[in-house]
Amino acid sequence: MTRIAKPKTQAERKLRVAQILRKLDEMYPDATCALHHNSPGLFRKYPTPVDFAAARQEVLASDIRSTGFFNNKAKSVIGAAKKIVDQFGGKVPQTLEELTTVPGAARKTANVVLGTAYGIASGVVVDTHVLRVGKRLDLTKNTDPVKVEQDLIKIIPQEKWILFSHQIIHHGRALCIARKPKCAECKLNAICYAPDKTA
Ligand code: SF4
Repeated sequence: MTRIAKPKTQAERKLRVAQILRKLDEMYPDATCALHHNSPGLFRKYPTPVDFAAARQEVLASDIRSTGFFNNKAKSVIGAAKKIVDQFGGKVPQTLEELTTVPGAARKTANVVLGTAYGIASGVVVDTHVLRVGKRLDLTKNTDPVKVEQDLIKIIPQEKWILFSHQIIHHGRALCIARKPKCAECKLNAICYAPDKTA
């Protein structure tokens, strides 16, 4: 395994973060939300939050059966749609404070929605991939998602928050996988000193 010295000074740490961002741009220049609307039929049937809010739970559940946990999801979607219709005039709100009052939309989801749908850099999305890759790259020592996000937004420039979130999630799916990361194929290898590196 390639042995890499850890940065010692603040300046070295800053330089390393800049290198990580550059390498991520090389590897994943067009990273965007990994979730896709692959159910156009659903959005034809329910084109607006009003339509979801008015749906009968068992009908919506059967419409989204293929996604798994469909009963709970149908309940959550209807609850979220009702809140959006009742409190926000049928439009998904554009601030983290408002969005996190919508049932089912905690910080992670709110950051994804604001970044992907509106291009608003409200924070860094912290999901299981960001937790794992952030730790391996020594961008955080924390394990609590809120603290991890605080660490990341301190060292990542705000204009990079949206792209960085998508890039790290892609990286966590493609190479920096949970077991046996594919370090030989990773452009971050030369500046990564994760203890479980494989090359
Ligand atoms: S070198 Fe390995 S552990 Fe480090 S970021 Fe790349 S895939 Fe992950």
